[in-house]
Amino acid sequence: MRENVDLRRCNTFGLPAVAERYLPLTDPAQLASPEFRQPPTLVLGGGSNLLLLEKIPGLTVHVLMSGIAHADGRGRFRVRAGTDWNQFVRYTLDNDFPGLENLILIPGTVGAAPVQNIGAYGAEVAEFITAVHAWEYGHGMVELSPEDCAFGYRDSRFKREPGRFLITAVDFDLSGRRPLKLEYGAITAELEAAGITDPTPRDVANAVTRIRRSKLPDWFFLGNSGSFFKNPVVARSHYAALQADHPDLPAYPIDDDYVKLPAGWLIDRAGLRGAGNEKVGTYERQALVMVNRGGATGRDVLAFSENVRGEVMNRFGVEIEREVQLVPNGTAH
Ligand SMILES: Cc1cc2nc3c(=O)[nH]c(=O)nc-3n(C[C@H](O)[C@H](O)[C@H](O)COP(=O)(O)OP(=O)(O)OC[C@H]3O[C@@H](n4cnc5c(N)ncnc54)[C@H](O)[C@@H]3O)c2cc1C
Repeated sequence: MRENVDLRRCNTFGLPAVAERYLPLTDPAQLASPEFRQPPTLVLGGGSNLLLLEKIPGLTVHVLMSGIAHADGRGRFRVRAGTDWNQFVRYTLDNDFPGLENLILIPGTVGAAPVQNIGAYGAEVAEFITAVHAWEYGHGMVELSPEDCAFGYRDSRFKREPGRFLITAVDFDLSGRRPLKLEYGAITAELEAAGITDPTPRDVANAVTRIRRSKLPDWFFLGNSGSFFKNPVVARSHYAALQADHPDLPAYPIDDDYVKLPAGWLIDRAGLRGAGNEKVGTYERQALVMVNRGGATGRDVLAFSENVRGEVMNRFGVEIEREVQLVPNGTAH
């Protein structure tokens, strides 16, 4: 246990924040110690989906237990929560267990992947999860089925019940071949440009890697937390009304009544791509990404993002919701 630990290097936004008490979790045996009787203020993974305010009171538990166990040699894996997500994806592809190729290059840890049901390019992690192992505060170790996890779009029970679970490991099933998902984003165009007509999962992973590198800033050089807002879901009638003024507004169908709108498009069309000041703003190439241009605090990012939310509401009458977790208040653990 350490006190007053600087978390600036533990969050991809590069925001200054100090954990009052900081405990690295490197071994499941630690869960029996008194520190794990009460939920901490923050369960920290790779810090890639967080908006940290300056002072994190109480306890921060940093999940650092890592390791990939190949359970049956046929595509069933048990992966410890602190394992780097991208490292796991590469491991599965290297060992010829496809499935996660569309989810390559998402920063963060395996333990955080179920929390917001990470997704990209038409795939979501929930499709591959068979069980989540977690420490339930006040109870002990539990195993949750996918139904127990109540996965939704960038959502799960872990997000809706903050402070209840600390995820220790995740089970994945990558046995069985699934059709490649090529229809989302620019994957097909990227493959065509590379002259690939009969792609392998590795080709798709390479295409997604190139697209992501061209669209997203490298957080090592320009602090950010990926998509700052979720794509809002609106009634089809609302979409039809918006289309009257904005015929080129894209939408992805959800069901007969609702569609999902791209938040990045709304921010862009509100004239806010690349907007901001010398400390904080939206990324010039992708309006959905907020960037720390240097010296920003969590409060600077929060204030700017609230302006963006307000502008989108004024312009389109659409509420956009934060995807990143605000700490200490808000919905983070
Ligand atoms: C450049 C960039 C691109 C991104 N692209 C995508 C994308 O394409 N798709 C996508 O879905 N996300 C994306 N993200 C967001 C982020 O990568 C994911 O949300 C990721 O899963 C966060 O993992 P983490 O370990 O960094 O979690 P953290 O940021 O440390 O934590 C996120 C939340 O999970 C909780 N948490 C973390 N670990 C545990 C645990 N073991 N048990 C219980 N709770 C836990 C935290 O308390 C917090 O509430 C991107 C981020 C960046 C910076």
